[in-house]
Amino acid sequence: MGIRGIIKGLGITFKHLFETYSEDLKQGPDRYKTAEGIQDRLSADTKGIFTVQYPEEKIPVPEAFRYIPFLIYDELEGGERDIRCTSCGICAKVCPPQCIWITRSVNPETGRPIPKPEKFFIDIDICMNCGYCAEYCPFEAIRMDHDYEIAGFDRMNHHIYDMEKLLKPASYYAKTHPVQYAEEETARLEKEAKKAAAQAAKAA
Ligand code: SF4
Ligand code: SF4
Repeated sequence: MGIRGIIKGLGITFKHLFETYSEDLKQGPDRYKTAEGIQDRLSADTKGIFTVQYPEEKIPVPEAFRYIPFLIYDELEGGERDIRCTSCGICAKVCPPQCIWITRSVNPETGRPIPKPEKFFIDIDICMNCGYCAEYCPFEAIRMDHDYEIAGFDRMNHHIYDMEKLLKPASYYAKTHPVQYAEEETARLEKEAKKAAAQAAKAA
């Protein structure tokens, strides 16, 4: 890290310390008692260090915040859900504590596998929130959620997430991860355009 890193770190610490008192002096008791003051403390632009009266007050989490993974489905017309997961199993293979279980769907007539999960479980007590599953998924089907209020009394009922609990619409993902979602959508549209151009060239 070196001396420059230490000085930089100390500089950030002193900046927070100074801003804590300068903001308190500037805003006075309003900072803690009025709705505007509370809103200011909860905004991304807030300065200094202060105590948050959780659960009444909650600090918004940054986009990169990661907790328990969720599965994404695209919303089709008529309310149909297009689950992105192909049950390839890569996430389960890379998961360090091995807390993902997947069963692939099977065509009942042919007995052949269908690239969709029939069952998908994550043991959230074992999940260490590393984000590897989201990092390695080739289909952008699993991402890290922002929801951290997941305490429950019954482990089996509340902490083993099944597919219904894990599935969330792409619109939810767009809301919680606007930058990442936009990047992925741009890349996807470019890929589709290239594919269409290649097909048109082949047909010509
Ligand atoms: S979430 Fe992604 S990596 Fe995991 S099984 Fe589904 S498609 Fe594969
Ligand atoms: S976040 Fe890490 S520990 Fe949790 S399910 Fe994904 S790979 Fe496993």
